[in-house]
Amino acid sequence: MIYDVIIIGGGVIGCCIARTLSKYDLKVALIEKEADIASGTTKANSGVVHAGYAAPREYSKRDLCIRGNKLYTQAAEELNFPFQRIGSFVVALEENQIKELEEERKLGIQDGIPGLELILDKQKIKYMEPNITDNVVGVLHAPSAGIVSPYEMTFALAENAAMNGVKFFRNHKVSKIKHQNYIFTITTKSGVFKSRNVINAAGLFARKISRMVGLDYFEILPRKGEYILFDRNAMHLNKILFPIPTKVSKGILVCPTLHGNTFVGPNAQNINDKKDISTTEAGLKEILEGGRLLVPNLPLRASIRNFAGLRAIPDSYDFIIDNTDIYGFINVAGILSPGLSSCFAIAEKVIGFLELLGVELKIKEDYNPIRPKPDRFKDLSKEELDRKIMENASWGRIICRCETIPEAEILNAIHAPVGATTVDGIKFRCRPGMGRCQGGFCRPRVIEILSRELNISYEEVTKRGEDTNFLVGKTKEFVLDELRVGEEE
Ligand SMILES: Cc1cc2nc3c(=O)[nH]c(=O)nc-3n(C[C@H](O)[C@H](O)[C@H](O)COP(=O)(O)OP(=O)(O)OC[C@H]3O[C@@H](n4cnc5c(N)ncnc54)[C@H](O)[C@@H]3O)c2cc1C
Repeated sequence: MIYDVIIIGGGVIGCCIARTLSKYDLKVALIEKEADIASGTTKANSGVVHAGYAAPREYSKRDLCIRGNKLYTQAAEELNFPFQRIGSFVVALEENQIKELEEERKLGIQDGIPGLELILDKQKIKYMEPNITDNVVGVLHAPSAGIVSPYEMTFALAENAAMNGVKFFRNHKVSKIKHQNYIFTITTKSGVFKSRNVINAAGLFARKISRMVGLDYFEILPRKGEYILFDRNAMHLNKILFPIPTKVSKGILVCPTLHGNTFVGPNAQNINDKKDISTTEAGLKEILEGGRLLVPNLPLRASIRNFAGLRAIPDSYDFIIDNTDIYGFINVAGILSPGLSSCFAIAEKVIGFLELLGVELKIKEDYNPIRPKPDRFKDLSKEELDRKIMENASWGRIICRCETIPEAEILNAIHAPVGATTVDGIKFRCRPGMGRCQGGFCRPRVIEILSRELNISYEEVTKRGEDTNFLVGKTKEFVLDELRVGEEE
């Protein structure tokens, strides 16, 4: 079969394009090299939907972010992913920084960013965010900025795309692309695909994919950002707090998550290895020091995890969204921050390119933009829960005690469209392992459930795909095997 469009890369960008395309009467597939979607940059970032004032005006990412931010309200309603416009503060700690904030405000308002205001009244600032440092002299308040869970949103996009007919192929690393007679032949580790159009959304590896069709006109370098995550309810922040940005990044922020945690980070280190997501003592020290300038009482004793994400930094420092010279091949590369904020606008732009390429965009009669809200134990009233447990006992079996996740939520995550097949897949879809004990209690039970539901052995269950198995065999079987070897001898 020949697809109309194949998307390479199942991060937030690829999945957002897939979902947008799923509206049309087209044959669409998404190919991802990892065992799950949302495994790259999309998994580890700040999860901030930026208002859009931060990027310089000459970059396309500024307009795409401003537009993308506006599109979030409808998308969150349709796809039922958690998103809150809690607003952000850029914090000035010295009088001479106020001028800079005022300039940002003026330009931002001209560009259509709603509600931007400069607040100089310290009492008002402290009222709006009691945890902010006493050294604050003023803030730029952007009420349209919000927080989102980047991976939960990506799963929602993929589920809705799949419901509307997009095919997802995970564990399919693209290794070769041939272009002949206006058809692309895409070779992967696990099969060959044909398509009239290809969208390269391969994140850090987008240059490699582009070079497969002979297009070598940009470089992508990894830039690491480390984080410290604090336990739920250790601190309650109302606002996303940014320092005055530097030339290379928006700086080290302190931010709440939708699940009641707080985090501090990221720093910005240029590295060479596109797989290095280690954290370092020096890096963690740097982000703590940075975070404490904004929130002096960061709850260090309640830190539950350190992690790092890799930005895909293009040499142009702007998004590379190109209808290329190879007919039907679209690059969506170098999607650094604010890529998450801009994804819906990026998808619109890509659809425009496909239209220019002559792809017929006829809306499907049965297109359904709604992805049903997953039932969550925590959101249910006692009566609803009682009823659910009476109907299905798995709602009453709590697998993750830190986050109060019943077996039923795990089963739903496995059996959803583009469902979880790994322990991390479960963790990122419905949170077992995200709490204080970090999976110490629930992991064996999650392995057991995956093994049973996917009909695979315990040894075949992995953390996140190939070579990440937890178990190598049953202890007693080893002993028996050894005895048998002894008998044979
Ligand atoms: C530290 C940090 C903080 C950030 N904070 C924010 C923020 O607060 N707000 C914001 O808007 N943006 C933020 N960003 C940027 C945002 O995370 C990215 O713009 C976004 O996640 C990019 O998504 P993507 O789909 O392009 O890339 P990815 O998520 O990396 O997806 C690319 C996918 O392609 C797959 N792939 C690669 N090669 C192949 C192949 N050969 N075959 C098949 N598949 C392949 C990969 O496995 C991967 O899943 C941040 C980024 C970082 C690192």
